[in-house]
Amino acid sequence: MPEVLYRKYRPMTFKEVVGQKPIKLTLQNEIASGKSAHAYLFVGPRGTGKTTLARLFARSLNCLNRKENESEPCNECDVCRQITQGNFMDVIEIDAASHTGVDNVRENIIASSQVPPFNKKGYKVFVIDEVHMLSKSAFNALLKTLEEPPKHIIFILATTEIHKVPETIISRCQRFDFKKIPQADIVKRLTEIIEWEKVTVPDHILGEIARRSEGCLRDAKSLLGQVISLSQGKVTDELASLVLPTSNWQEVDTLVEALRVANLSTALNQLNKMVNEGVDLHNFTLDLIDYLRQILLYQSIGPSFALDFPENLITSIKKHAQDFPLADLSRLLNIILEKLTIKETLIDQLPLELACVEFLLDKEPMQEKDQKSVPEVTENAEKKTKKIDSNINLIESLQTNWPKIREETKPFNHSLSALLQTSHPVSTDNGIVVIGVEYDFHLQQMDKPNVKNHLAKVLSDVLGQNLRVEIQIDDNYTENHQTFKGKNDKEVGEILDTFGGEVV
Ligand SMILES: [Zn+2]
Repeated sequence: MPEVLYRKYRPMTFKEVVGQKPIKLTLQNEIASGKSAHAYLFVGPRGTGKTTLARLFARSLNCLNRKENESEPCNECDVCRQITQGNFMDVIEIDAASHTGVDNVRENIIASSQVPPFNKKGYKVFVIDEVHMLSKSAFNALLKTLEEPPKHIIFILATTEIHKVPETIISRCQRFDFKKIPQADIVKRLTEIIEWEKVTVPDHILGEIARRSEGCLRDAKSLLGQVISLSQGKVTDELASLVLPTSNWQEVDTLVEALRVANLSTALNQLNKMVNEGVDLHNFTLDLIDYLRQILLYQSIGPSFALDFPENLITSIKKHAQDFPLADLSRLLNIILEKLTIKETLIDQLPLELACVEFLLDKEPMQEKDQKSVPEVTENAEKKTKKIDSNINLIESLQTNWPKIREETKPFNHSLSALLQTSHPVSTDNGIVVIGVEYDFHLQQMDKPNVKNHLAKVLSDVLGQNLRVEIQIDDNYTENHQTFKGKNDKEVGEILDTFGGEVV
C-alpha cells in the first residue's frame, strides 16, 4: 500500500511537482526552447524529486504531442505511456549502486549511447541514479563519453553524495541542487492525496507526518499510505500512533524545565532514563529543538504566533515562554546545534532566527522620539527613593505609583504607556498583579510575553518587590476605572492615541 500510494501520486507534469521551483523553471525553459544540455547533475537529499524530475524531463523531451515552445508532456501518446511504464527504449535508467563496475558502464552506457535514438526526433536519455557509487575506472569511462557526447544523447546523473563524484565529471554537467521540501508544501500535497483517496486525516496528523519525513516527500507519502491502510476511511490519533514514531513530549518538557531551573541531575537522569527505555534519541533531539524554538518564537512574537502543537503542549510552551529567559533559550539552542552534526536536517531558518535574537538581546526597541537616556547616577538615586514599605497595601501602592509606572514604560514603548492610562490594577495575589482593561483589543496588545515581562520589571522596580503581571478584561471596567482615576486626579497625562500604536 505505501509504495502503491507513492507511485500512484507521482507527478505527471512539471506543474504537479512539489517544490524545486528554480530547477523546474530552468528545465522547462530548456525543453521549450529546444536548448537542453548534454549532461545534468541532480544533487540533493533522497526523496526530493530527483528521479521524478529526470523521468518527467525525459518524457517531455520525447513526447510525440508536445508542441514547440511547450514544456509539459501530453502523458497520452505511446512514448509518454511507455516511459511512464518504464519500457521505452530511449530512456535508460541505471542504478549505479548495483552497477558499479567499468564493464557495466561500457556495456550499458557507452555502447548503447553510440546507437541513435529509436525516436528519430527525440533524445536518448540515460538516468544514472546514485552515480557516486561508480568505481574510479567506471567514472573515467563515463568521462570520455561526457567529453564527446554523441548527438541526441542526454545524461542525467543523480546523487545524494556529491563529494564522492569526481570534479572532472561535475564540471561537465549542468548542476542542480535539490532542496528539502518545506513542511507546508508536503502538507499541501498530502491534503490533495487524502482528498483523492476520500480519507479523513486530521490536520495535526498530516503535520506530524510532514515533520517526521524531514523534507522527504517520498517518506511522507509512504507514512501517509501506512496510516491510511490501517484505517477505514477515517484516521484517528490511536491508529496514527501505530505508524508514526511516538514523540516523547513529556520527556522533552521535563528536560526543558530541568535546564530552565538549572537542575543538572534531573536533566542527566532524564536523558539516561530515556536511553534505557530505548527512546530514539535522534527523534528526541529533533523534538527538543522544535520545542525550544516554539518557546523562543512565542516569547518573541506573542499570541499572534500560531503554535502548531496539540493543546496540552501549547499550555506548557506558553508557560515556558513566560519563565525561560530569551538569552538562555537562544544560548541553549546554539549549544545543542553546535554539539550536533544534524544541522541540515533542521529548520532552515533556525540559525538566522538565533542570530536575530542574539544580536538584539540587550537592545531595547528604538522609538523615533524619546531616545534620550536618563543619566545613570540620577536613575540610581531615584531607585533608592522608590523602595516602598512592604506593609503598605500593594494595590494602594500601585494606584499611587501608576503615573510613575506609566512614565517608566515610555522608553520601552509609548503605546504601552498610553494603554496603562486606560487600564488599572484590579487585584494582587501572591506577587501577581492583575491589570484590568476595557477592550479585547487592549487585551491583545498587552497580553504578550515580552510586554508583560517588561511591565513586571517596571512594577518590580518601582515597588521594590518581585511582581508578575496578568492582563484581563475588567467586566466592571467603567465603575472601577472611575474610582481609580479619582485616586489619581492629580495626574494630567498626555493623551496618546492608544489605537494608533502597536505595542511591540
Ligand atoms: Zn506524449
